[in-house]
Amino acid sequence: MVDFRLSEEQELLRQLARDFAKTEIMPAAAHHDETGEFPTEIVKKAWEAGLLNTKIPEAYGGLGLGVFESCIIAEELGYGCTGITTAIEANNLAEAPLIVAASDSVKKRFLAPMTESFQMAAYCVTEPGAGSDVAGVKTTAVKKGDKYVLNGTKQWITNAAKADWYFVLAKTDPEAGHRGMTGFVVPRDSPGVSVGRKEKNMGQRASDTRQVVFEDVEVPADNVVGEVGHGFKVAMAAFDVTRPMVAAAAVGLARRAMDESIAYAKERKTFGRPIANHQAIAFMIADMATSVEAAQMLVWKSALLYDQGKRNSLFAAHAKRFAADEAMRIATDAVQVFGGYGFNTEYPVEKLMRDAKIFQIYEGTSQIQRLIISRHVLGE
Ligand SMILES: Cc1cc2nc3c(=O)[nH]c(=O)nc-3n(C[C@H](O)[C@H](O)[C@H](O)COP(=O)(O)OP(=O)(O)OC[C@H]3O[C@@H](n4cnc5c(N)ncnc54)[C@H](O)[C@@H]3O)c2cc1C
Repeated sequence: MVDFRLSEEQELLRQLARDFAKTEIMPAAAHHDETGEFPTEIVKKAWEAGLLNTKIPEAYGGLGLGVFESCIIAEELGYGCTGITTAIEANNLAEAPLIVAASDSVKKRFLAPMTESFQMAAYCVTEPGAGSDVAGVKTTAVKKGDKYVLNGTKQWITNAAKADWYFVLAKTDPEAGHRGMTGFVVPRDSPGVSVGRKEKNMGQRASDTRQVVFEDVEVPADNVVGEVGHGFKVAMAAFDVTRPMVAAAAVGLARRAMDESIAYAKERKTFGRPIANHQAIAFMIADMATSVEAAQMLVWKSALLYDQGKRNSLFAAHAKRFAADEAMRIATDAVQVFGGYGFNTEYPVEKLMRDAKIFQIYEGTSQIQRLIISRHVLGE
């Protein structure tokens, strides 16, 4: 039987995240957008509330929530501010490769401490010359005795300057293409690790994006995540967990843009009546509502497939592509509903439009999601 109701526990979780977004995130969102200041206190409070690291298994001290529950949280936080949500959710992205593939020893050494004290982590895959084409990364890891020596530069790394450790994808066999890649955990305080300046991004300015440079960084062979040569598979498998959550945050942003549009359209009058009574505006809002519902259903399906142990890569791509593109479209329409006020920083929707754009780029662009979808449906 298909049932769209949440369980009592899931409802409580949703309420917890909704209250957190309302009391902690929304009042601070404009400040962090304007200043670019990292929301350390808010992320810490999210950790205290159990809203961070939601996927760490109970065996390592975590809550062991499903992808579905993690999506419910991400949507509510995203409603508050997706910049702050990205700062919070980056831990889930860094942890995902460890959860899907790491040895018990790596999990004990790097996941368990995340539940014991407030720590952060970052996912280092993208490089200056390789984003969509992950197999094109140039960072190398050369084995020397019981260590690997890492050299390379990672680009656009969320929470780079805040992380206690990094998940790093490197080439252990540069001749073997994507089969020659391996994942590592690299503690941030390892000699030879340095981070660049904070990037000045269009939106989601509360999150911290930087370059990370590895210069002759020695990493114990024990820090390999999964098997040597399986890094590409591990990094991709992590997306099955995280893409539904990223899509959920985009749904949160879209829902916020719709709610702001509804409130404004009922209040603002032109030609003697609220603009909501002009069909052009009412239909724009109707389309927002349909897309929010449809995107949420794709998120839920992609998450539930994963939680039921089924392959969800196709639906994770559907959810990520649709939620990202619709969040961008809905935020753009919200600016239109607000007219001139929509273009002004005193009103909330211009930030939503700037924040929405990155959903079409990070964790696989909308084009890359279409590539995945087309390969599946064409049977390639
Ligand atoms: C704010 C921010 C935070 C980020 N956080 C992280 C992070 O924490 N960790 C991390 O590893 N990375 C992170 N990234 C990197 C992000 O995942 C990449 O930017 C993204 O994957 C795209 O790669 P690229 O920028 O190199 O673009 P490119 O791969 O150069 O793509 C350029 C354009 O070409 C299109 N394109 C490329 N290949 C194809 C194709 N085969 N078919 C059709 N179109 C194609 C793309 O869709 C895009 O429109 C972040 C980026 C940003 C901006």
